[in-house]
Amino acid sequence: MNLRETSFGEFLKPSQIIFDLKSRDKLEAIEELLDSLVRLKLISNKNLTLTRIVDRENLESTALGHGLAVPHARVDTEGQIAVAVGRSAEGIDFDAPDGQPVRLIILVVWNPSLPGLFNHLFAGLASFLIKPENRFRLFNTRDKEELHAVLSEIRFSFPREDKIINRASLLKKLQDIEIRIRRAPKDKLEELQKHRNLIREELDQSLLARFDLLMDRYGYAVAEVVDGVCRSCNMSVSTQMASAIEESNDIYVCENCGKYLVAARKEKVAREKVEKARKEKPAARAEKAGKPKETARKKPVRK
Ligand SMILES: [Zn+2]
Repeated sequence: MNLRETSFGEFLKPSQIIFDLKSRDKLEAIEELLDSLVRLKLISNKNLTLTRIVDRENLESTALGHGLAVPHARVDTEGQIAVAVGRSAEGIDFDAPDGQPVRLIILVVWNPSLPGLFNHLFAGLASFLIKPENRFRLFNTRDKEELHAVLSEIRFSFPREDKIINRASLLKKLQDIEIRIRRAPKDKLEELQKHRNLIREELDQSLLARFDLLMDRYGYAVAEVVDGVCRSCNMSVSTQMASAIEESNDIYVCENCGKYLVAARKEKVAREKVEKARKEKPAARAEKAGKPKETARKKPVRK
């Protein structure tokens, strides 16, 4: 896979660490950390982020045991990822599996345009935090800078920039997998379903609800835009929308047929144009030679 190795320090500055959390309560502590992210302009929508984090906590506490917790949410951040760390000397009740109060909170908010990011980050965190000597060092730092230095030792693999895909192409990917699942042999099914669930985790409920509806009704939900034309209904989309689809991470819907629109991959468009020109050539040559068009058309069409 196309990954690059990086350190947790790349996303965590000392200013993102609260060495002595004032809060003694789980929800308040999360809010305290979010407030600091708002102040640092790393997130803009505190309430939405809080709701997502609390929803996730209600599903199952993100406390790992051993005094650690990693509350997280996938929300449109200002950047790609926003991390805040809070330490509490007294500890906070986090409904931990081992019942221990949490003394270090690592809060992660990441952008939906980075599918699977949290899994990569979490794998790095887990392999570091599982070692008792690393936890000992984390809990025994004397100040923010020292804590930052220890946390910066955490390594993880991060998807390369060019692997970052937007939500529209995630929808397209999901559609491809749903179609493959329909005719998959039993032994491939489990893997495909796992892949499907991973992608679904990265997409908002409202997007998915509409996606499922379209898949049910038409067998597909996402249409490519080629030369400004929706491939599903063959109607032009506005020039403005066509260029936005190319450039932004927002989701667009065809005003005519209601499908989700995704920019066609450039190399694919180029290949199709070559193919089209190749097919048209015999007819064009026949015309030039003064032969009637009909003769050219009767030639067997190569596929
Ligand atoms: Zn359309």
